[in-house]
Amino acid sequence: MVRFTVLASGSRGNCTVLSGGRTRILVDAGLSCRELFRRMNLAGEDPATLNAIVITHEHQDHVNGIAVTARKLGIPVYFTEATHRAWMRWLSPRRQMTYAQWLEMCRKQAAERRAEPESDSSESDPSDDPGEEPVGNAAQSLVPNAPDPAAPDPALDASSGRPPSLKEDPTWLPAVEYFEAGQPFSIGDICLNPFTIPHDAADPVGFIFSAEGVRMGFATDLGYIPPNVKEQLRDLDLLLLESNHDLEMLRDGPYPWSVKQRVLSRVGHLSNDSASQFLAQDYDGQAAWIILGHLSENNNLPELARVAAERALAGRASLLANHLLLARQHEPLSSITF
Ligand SMILES: [Zn+2]
Ligand SMILES: [Zn+2]
Repeated sequence: MVRFTVLASGSRGNCTVLSGGRTRILVDAGLSCRELFRRMNLAGEDPATLNAIVITHEHQDHVNGIAVTARKLGIPVYFTEATHRAWMRWLSPRRQMTYAQWLEMCRKQAAERRAEPESDSSESDPSDDPGEEPVGNAAQSLVPNAPDPAAPDPALDASSGRPPSLKEDPTWLPAVEYFEAGQPFSIGDICLNPFTIPHDAADPVGFIFSAEGVRMGFATDLGYIPPNVKEQLRDLDLLLLESNHDLEMLRDGPYPWSVKQRVLSRVGHLSNDSASQFLAQDYDGQAAWIILGHLSENNNLPELARVAAERALAGRASLLANHLLLARQHEPLSSITF
């Protein structure tokens, strides 16, 4: 069975669980680990069964819980290389490191750890969220955060290794895997096809996920829908599409002009009008489910987004296709199963 559950969507945090076959992945981890686990449990998903985290881009509302979640579960995080580097810079803003300097720092830290006496302490991984219990026996499978995940750091092997604490190295992850836009890859039973989207981040992507013959499109955080994205969003069973703002509400709203400009720009966010224009003119009408996501809490109203999309889909709604849902910021959406 394929199951798609939006745990959160919006500028305060984005996170979706997708399972297919024997594989379960998290798409973005923009909630704290504690909140993420709470919502997974609410949605009937067991966090301990997650296999990987996949990141669309490094903005805070998509990455907030990565480090704590990946450490607790001992699972790999998939990024593009540029997004990984941008995320690390974001966590080390004062260091202003070049990539070469960062590599050198990793080598030094590994050498320091090798010099430390071996510890048989079974203390849990210190985190910025001390109320949480570690899940599973993650330390057994830890391999280090390194540009090349195939080159594990001998200081951290399963017999003697101990990962650095979040304070020592907030960028440390159990394992990092790189993917590239335009290069499909698999995680277990789920195939992922990442594509470039126009957004003001280092290397932002949307995805087509497929599992058990079900195709799901994922496109939020994009200023407009260029031809390459239109090309991808076809023959889908499910489409999660951004419907961020109502143009008038944004223009008349509380944001400073510079922020309004950013949201409206070609690398900002998709308006209700732009989403509707796609649905009316370019969308092939095939999906059983359309989920509108990343709605602004300040510059949109769920009803405005819904009405705009319903108008665009007029005549297409049927028993089989184009059921319209709105993803929410503060609670999970009911799971969609195929
Ligand atoms: Zn976002
Ligand atoms: Zn973003």
